[in-house]
Amino acid sequence: MARDERPQGWHRQTQMVHGGARRSQYGEVAEALYLTQGFVYPSAAAAEARFLGAGPDEFIYARYGNPTVAVFEDRVATLEGTEDAFATASGMAAVSGALMACLRAGSRVVAARALFGSCLYVLQDVLTRFGVEVVLVDGTDLAAWQAALEPGADVVFLESVSNPVLEVIDLRAVAALAHEAGARVIVDNVFATPVFSRAVDLGADVVIYSATKHIDGQGRCLGGVICGTQDFIRKTVEPYMKHTGGAMSPFNAWVMLNGLQTLDLRVRAQAASAARIAQALAGHPKLARVIYPGLPDHPQHSVARDQMDGFGTMLAFELKGGKDAAFAMLDALRIALISNNLGDARSIVTHPATTTHQRLPDADKAALGITPGLVRFSTGLEDADDLIGDLLQALDAVPG
Ligand SMILES: *Cc1c(COP(=O)(O)O)cnc(C)c1O
Repeated sequence: MARDERPQGWHRQTQMVHGGARRSQYGEVAEALYLTQGFVYPSAAAAEARFLGAGPDEFIYARYGNPTVAVFEDRVATLEGTEDAFATASGMAAVSGALMACLRAGSRVVAARALFGSCLYVLQDVLTRFGVEVVLVDGTDLAAWQAALEPGADVVFLESVSNPVLEVIDLRAVAALAHEAGARVIVDNVFATPVFSRAVDLGADVVIYSATKHIDGQGRCLGGVICGTQDFIRKTVEPYMKHTGGAMSPFNAWVMLNGLQTLDLRVRAQAASAARIAQALAGHPKLARVIYPGLPDHPQHSVARDQMDGFGTMLAFELKGGKDAAFAMLDALRIALISNNLGDARSIVTHPATTTHQRLPDADKAALGITPGLVRFSTGLEDADDLIGDLLQALDAVPG
């Protein structure tokens, strides 16, 4: 198996198609799927040598690494602009793995409070059990970051664009404060997407994706990836991940590699439709607000414009009639599916207060803006006019 030696400096779309390519002696065009958990050694001495130190294209066991997974890791690292990457079984395996791998009892984490429900669980319920201090701040308030970082910190964790209320964090400013405090900046970049975000250029030390979302993009497989320096990935993340079992399956890596080839096209088309939908819904009499970072009235519109190449595929809106109105609207939709994935080719509509963020106490939901009337919309690849028509007819069906 030979690794393609190709010039660096290509644009992301080219890396998404070719990055990290390796070919067997057959010279296959499509990525080979090495659906194997183990690897044969030519001799006992070779096995011993491999365990003493495996080279970049030498494998031991799929929990440690696999050729198909390695192509995926290299491809994501190349397009993300990091030295290395480690693929994981899910986005949450990436989040929990990156945090657990570098924290210990007595460590201090400062995180934005507007987070995906499972990220909040890892921070508030898991890490604190092991003696890690976790401080949550309003991620859009730089003074709050500064105050929380005053005593120093080991890790700053944030979603660059938060799930589900789409708060946009000023990454450059927060990363500067974090680095001054001696913290490593770990960014969950799912909503921003690898297409629109340059998190590493803005100061992120570690970038995490749930590949389940836009990278697969067709709702088939779970996966995640941690991107960072070679030192962090191989010396801190890999030892933790390979012994705790959060590895990505080779089959899922193969699906994700195919997803990456069309990622750029899909995300740009979905974001263009999301912008049109946000404009079409803005000011609707049954809606209290429409949240999309591309709308000029979004509180962090200018931050989003400065730090992203596009405003993303996700939007949210709040029905004036609360939960009953939100449920009536969801039930009246004919195209968008009621589910909880995002970044899918199919538009997906979610009621966060009763599903993805159900676990949160009401006071926390209120503080995060996860009101009973809030609906999250993941824009798919359907025709934008059809989606707008569907949303408007569903709003018509809402009583009041
Ligand atoms: C979905 C999601 C995750 C978790 O990813 P899984 O692949 O479902 O484990 C983490 N962070 C954000 C922002 C997400 O949207």
